[in-house]
Amino acid sequence: MTESVIPIFDLREHRYHSMRPSIPEQLQQPDGLVADLRGRPLHDLRISVTDRCNFRCVYCMPKEVFDKDYRFLPHSELLSFEEIERTARLFVAHGVEKIRLTGGEPLLRKNIEKLVDMLARIPTVSGRPLDLTLTTNASLLARKATSLRDAGLSRVSVSLDAIDDPTFRRMNDVDFAVADVLRGIEAAQAAGLAPIKVNMVVKRGTNDDQIVPMARHFRGTGIIVRFIEFMDVGASNHWRMDEVLPSSEVVSRIDAAFGLEPMDPNYSGETAKRWRYRDGAGEIGVISSVTQAFCGDCSRIRLSTEGRLYLCLFATEGYDLRALLRGGYSDLQISNAIAAIWRARQDNYSEQRGNPSVRAARAAQKIEMSYIGG
Ligand code: SAM
Ligand code: SF4
Ligand code: SF4
Repeated sequence: MTESVIPIFDLREHRYHSMRPSIPEQLQQPDGLVADLRGRPLHDLRISVTDRCNFRCVYCMPKEVFDKDYRFLPHSELLSFEEIERTARLFVAHGVEKIRLTGGEPLLRKNIEKLVDMLARIPTVSGRPLDLTLTTNASLLARKATSLRDAGLSRVSVSLDAIDDPTFRRMNDVDFAVADVLRGIEAAQAAGLAPIKVNMVVKRGTNDDQIVPMARHFRGTGIIVRFIEFMDVGASNHWRMDEVLPSSEVVSRIDAAFGLEPMDPNYSGETAKRWRYRDGAGEIGVISSVTQAFCGDCSRIRLSTEGRLYLCLFATEGYDLRALLRGGYSDLQISNAIAAIWRARQDNYSEQRGNPSVRAARAAQKIEMSYIGG
């Protein structure tokens, strides 16, 4: 029997709370480093470019909520490419070196290559090239891989939850075939959008039998599969702890099949723990957001489709940056507002998830993954 959920509001009508950021009185030039209350720097900006998607993954946009009556944002509410680029520049001046475009399905946003081109030109404080990446369900990737690369995209992450076709079709819930995702991945490889990462959300009892087959399929290809614990993000995916398969079990299953050994992280704050095959056939990653919180290193900020800033994937409230972007404020004023928001940050939801009262307080109001991106 499914758990009955009493909705506090109708998700179709729901728009999230936001606060208007305040502009500090004393304005300072950004110096490439801003730290929050726990000393965490701001390195990683995720930008959601659309709240729409052509998939209905059961753990993200379940059909019964995201149906024909669901009210997606009208175009006028979305940040324009110029507004996104302006915002990105302000973040990069605070030390952001990595930008990920996400959604919804980012390749559904019209002329996304144009935005990639605009972002790829932003110079970082360190002088290193901006790490500009995109997470996609790959449905349009075969068509767009080359133009994205030409526009300056560094690499892509592709979501694929099973290598078994019927299982994948059940999970995306729109009958999309594995073969079409694989074609997108091949096109990305041919275009040189490497290293390609494949993200698999693992739901116990739904696709956990796909862990070893996915590892087997991508071993030796240079593609890194990352196994993600099913998260209690949003309020519509009927998350239950007993459907979370701990990453430790993912590692032991793949280790038993092929032999694994741990690797050092690429950088501090990396979300995935890295493992490599003992026989040299490449590496995998596990993202244990539920069983092993990594808030201590979290340097990520998220910009929603309509220009709200979120300090945590599990936030219930954002900051209405669009009001400043459209309100006639200068770059320096907005830059200082952003710095003030980050400096006051102490978010650490994953560390508190075990506390039932924290979980209950947020349960019905967390932002949806399709609104804020992964
Ligand atoms: N549509 C694109 C895609 O699927 O790659 C980008 C947006 S999607 C929201 C970003 C990532 O979030 C995907 O890799 C997806 O699998 C992951 N995701 C969505 N809901 C999740 C959940 N409840 N738990 C864990 N990961 C989730
Ligand atoms: Fe769409 Fe990505 Fe969510 Fe699946 S995970 S429904 S592809 S936004
Ligand atoms: Fe970062 Fe929030 Fe996730 Fe913790 S729970 S790692 S603060 S996004």
